[in-house]
Amino acid sequence: MLDVLIHSQIPLLTDADVLVVGAGSAGCCAAIAAREAGVDRVVLVERYGFAGGTSTQMLDTFYGFFTPGTEPKKVVGGLPDRVVDALDRVGAVFLRPNTYGAGTGVNYNPERLKLVWDELLAQAGVKLYLHAHLVDVELKADGSIASVVIWSKRGFFRIRARRYIDTSGDADLCFRANLPFEKAGDLEPAQTLTTTFRMSNVDLSAYERAGGKKMLMQKMADAVERGTHPLPRKAGSLHRMNAEGCISTVAVRVADIDATDFEQLTRAEQEGRRQAFVYEAFFRACVPGFERANIIGLSHQIGVRETRRVYGEYRLTKQDCLSVARFADRVLLCGAPIEDHRKATDGREETVWGYIPDGGAYDVPYRTLVPRGRDEVWVAGRCFSATHDAHASCRSMGQTMAMGQAVGTAAALSLRHDCSARAVPMAELQDRLRQSGAILEMPTRVADTSEHGWRNNR
Ligand SMILES: Cc1cc2nc3c(=O)[nH]c(=O)nc-3n(C[C@H](O)[C@H](O)[C@H](O)COP(=O)(O)OP(=O)(O)OC[C@H]3O[C@@H](n4cnc5c(N)ncnc54)[C@H](O)[C@@H]3O)c2cc1C
Repeated sequence: MLDVLIHSQIPLLTDADVLVVGAGSAGCCAAIAAREAGVDRVVLVERYGFAGGTSTQMLDTFYGFFTPGTEPKKVVGGLPDRVVDALDRVGAVFLRPNTYGAGTGVNYNPERLKLVWDELLAQAGVKLYLHAHLVDVELKADGSIASVVIWSKRGFFRIRARRYIDTSGDADLCFRANLPFEKAGDLEPAQTLTTTFRMSNVDLSAYERAGGKKMLMQKMADAVERGTHPLPRKAGSLHRMNAEGCISTVAVRVADIDATDFEQLTRAEQEGRRQAFVYEAFFRACVPGFERANIIGLSHQIGVRETRRVYGEYRLTKQDCLSVARFADRVLLCGAPIEDHRKATDGREETVWGYIPDGGAYDVPYRTLVPRGRDEVWVAGRCFSATHDAHASCRSMGQTMAMGQAVGTAAALSLRHDCSARAVPMAELQDRLRQSGAILEMPTRVADTSEHGWRNNR
């Protein structure tokens, strides 16, 4: 941490009404929602050169919009829908029907999504600073936040705001502001990390004719058991992309890493890349349809599932998820199962699933987005307040976008009513979210999850 003397010498870049740290799916939605709810000066800072976070750094499928099961329901709406609509208008979306796993996914072109985030942020009038890394927080004597310090190639700058939203994924703002959190790995094994990779020149018809997913699982298990290719695990998934003859994978697995430690993360990045090319050799040698396939892209960085989870006014628990809990202060719904990626031991696959009963969805309370005892700060996205298991359910991007929409709107109301995060009028917040299209009540209508069904659900 830099000390107070230095803070006073750091130039002030700008004043904001709401400052959002981290332009992932949660942060972009928070910033847009705050502007659309009437906040004048909304500033969003992002360390990389594009918005979207995990949604554009490494993935191509939004989960969490639909509950899994034989009668899927659409449980996310509003601003997240508009993100998909913008992709759909340029033909960059198809649904991946699935009754198992996390349910039907919304597949998109991640490069196009970078542009969509730019456009949605600009249309909303959000002031975006890319290549701006939050490195410190200046605190007032009472412990509240006076300003944040960002680092850029031009040097250090302070940004002063009336309200702060931490959507950095790693809770960097809360960490620097001395707010309490649980670090992944402290109480339970941290979820593993994954470098995703994309391959081109895949003959998907040949792959399907040879048995598709079932055949792939068998070939992976054989490779591990016979030792022909040193794959890190017997399982792993691939799916076709929004580009002809291309697939994307979630296969690499790197365990026992504290992803807030740059030395451990260095090792993880290198190990992730190494494993990706072990998979490439395996695919080319063993999997029909992949004989001429090549890796054409690795994720921008290794995918980190969890690090710091802030202690909020409420912590979502496994029991809440599995009992389909109802909360008066709900601001979004989640029907995604607990999907806990663990270290594979003794050759056993260790993704642990826990399903929400009857394809239902539980309420996510507003209090999980308010750090305990705080007036001027919110958290959203993967650093929100939840136990390890509950987080493993409520981290899909449908939910992180919905959380962003909720905190951006809440921050706007707290400014309008000059009240603290904890005192935001709940009925007004929920009304406003419903008016924007957010779904706060379990729908009865079964969703159309056929490949081209997106528009039928709008
Ligand atoms: C390997 C993997 C596979 C997954 N698969 C899926 C899937 O298929 N579908 C799905 O829906 N979900 C999936 N998830 C979960 C989901 O992607 C994440 O939970 C979600 O994207 C988190 O969104 P977020 O906005 O909270 O955080 P992030 O997307 O991590 O965004 C945080 C942003 O903050 C920025 N940032 C961080 N620190 C700073 C700082 N100090 N200063 C400035 N900027 C900063 C980051 O660069 C980033 O842009 C997966 C996650 C992983 C890791």
